[in-house]
Amino acid sequence: MKTIDQGRFDGKKVLVRCDFNVPIDAAGKITDETRIRESLPTLKALLEQGAALILMSHLGRPAGTGFEAAYSLAPVAARLKEVLGHPVQFNQDVFTDTTVQAAAGLKGGDVLLLENLRFTKAETKGDETFARYLADLGDAYVNDAFGTAHRAHASTAVIAKFFPTEKYAGKLLAHEVENLEKLLHHAARPFTAVIGGSKVSSKIDVLQNLIDRVDNMIIGGGMAYTFIKAQGGQIGRSLCEDDKLEVARGVMAACAKKGVKLYLPKDTVCADDFNNDANRQCVPTMAIPDGWEGMDIGPETRAVFEQVIAGSASVLWNGPLGVFEMPNFQAGTLQIGKAIGEATKKGAYSAVGGGDSVAAANQLGLAKDLSYVSTGGGAMLEYLEGKVLPGVAALD
Ligand code: AMP
Repeated sequence: MKTIDQGRFDGKKVLVRCDFNVPIDAAGKITDETRIRESLPTLKALLEQGAALILMSHLGRPAGTGFEAAYSLAPVAARLKEVLGHPVQFNQDVFTDTTVQAAAGLKGGDVLLLENLRFTKAETKGDETFARYLADLGDAYVNDAFGTAHRAHASTAVIAKFFPTEKYAGKLLAHEVENLEKLLHHAARPFTAVIGGSKVSSKIDVLQNLIDRVDNMIIGGGMAYTFIKAQGGQIGRSLCEDDKLEVARGVMAACAKKGVKLYLPKDTVCADDFNNDANRQCVPTMAIPDGWEGMDIGPETRAVFEQVIAGSASVLWNGPLGVFEMPNFQAGTLQIGKAIGEATKKGAYSAVGGGDSVAAANQLGLAKDLSYVSTGGGAMLEYLEGKVLPGVAALD
C-alpha cells in the first residue's frame, strides 16, 4: 500500500475519497465537524504539491434514487471552504456530463466536491460503470475514508482498479492501518484487551481473533453476563444472550488453552430498572438478585482491572464497561478509561475504537490521553476480527 507521501501530484487531478459523513440537524447545521477537520492533512498535502482535487463522499443513507436535499453535501462544501481556508466548488449534479465538464475545467489548486455518492445505488452496489465514470474524472486516486473501508463500494474499492499505479492511502487511512497492524502484529507485551459493550454476538469474532494475540482479556459491559451465566452464575434480569452460552464457554476454554488470563467482573452495580434514577446496589456478579440487572462493574472489579492495565505495555479498548450514558452507571467505564490513560502516560501504547467506545471516551474526556483513537467504528471492528477490508485491499 502506497501512501500519498510516496506520490507526486503536481499538475494532476486527484480523486480523493473522503469520509464527510457528518451529522447534520434539521436546519442544515453540521453538529460535529470532526470528520471534515480530519480530512485536512491529506487535502493540504495534495494542494501544496499543486494538485487539483476532486473530493468524493457519501452522507447518510439516502434512497439512492437521485437528489435528496436532506442528504446533500452542500453544507459540507460550505464548511470545508472555511476550515480549509480555500475555495471549494460544488454543484448539485448527480453524476451527469455537468460533473465531467466541471472536473475537466479544474486547474492546479482547484477543489471540487462532488454531490453525495449514495444519490445513486451504483455506489453501494459497487457498480463498475459508475466506478469507471468517477475514475475518468481524475489522474490519480487517494482513499482517505477509513470509516467506509469495510464496504466494497464503487468509490471505496472498485475504482482503485482503474489506477493500477496511481492509487494511494491518504494520511488518515494510512494512520489507521499502521496502528491496527501494530496492535495485531507487533504489540509490545503484556498486551491487554478490554472488551465491553452490549452483546457477545457482535464481539465474538473480535474475541476469537484476539485470543491468539493478547496476554490478558478483560471482559465487562453487558456482554459479561452471558459469560457469568455460562459459569453457572445468577444474573437476575441482566443482559444475556442465551443462545451464546456455548460461545462464551468456548472463549473461556480457548483462553485457558492458550494461556490467556481472562478477567470477568467479580462485583456488579445493579439496578431495579433500566434508568439512571433506579435503586442501586453492589453485589457479587455471580449472585445478582432476581429483578435486578447489572449496569456497571463494581469497585472490586475496577481495582483488579486497573492493576492488570497498569502492568500492560499495550492496551486495546473496545466497548464501554457499563451503561456509560447514564451518570449513575458510568463510574466503571470512567475509571478503566482513566487507568488506560495513566498507563499511556507511563509509556504503554493504547488504542480505542469500534462501536460506541470512541463516543464513551470522548464523552468522558478520556480520548486525549490515549495513543490512538480510531475514527472507523465498523471498519476497526472488522480489522480486529482479522477480516481484510476491501477499501484497504484495493490499494495493494
Ligand atoms: P457496543 O456498541 O456493542 O460497544 O455497546 C455499547 C452499548 O453497550 C452502550 O450503549 C452501553 O450502554 C451498553 N452497555 C454497556 N454495559 C451494559 C450493561 N451492563 N447493560 C446494558 N447495556 C450495557
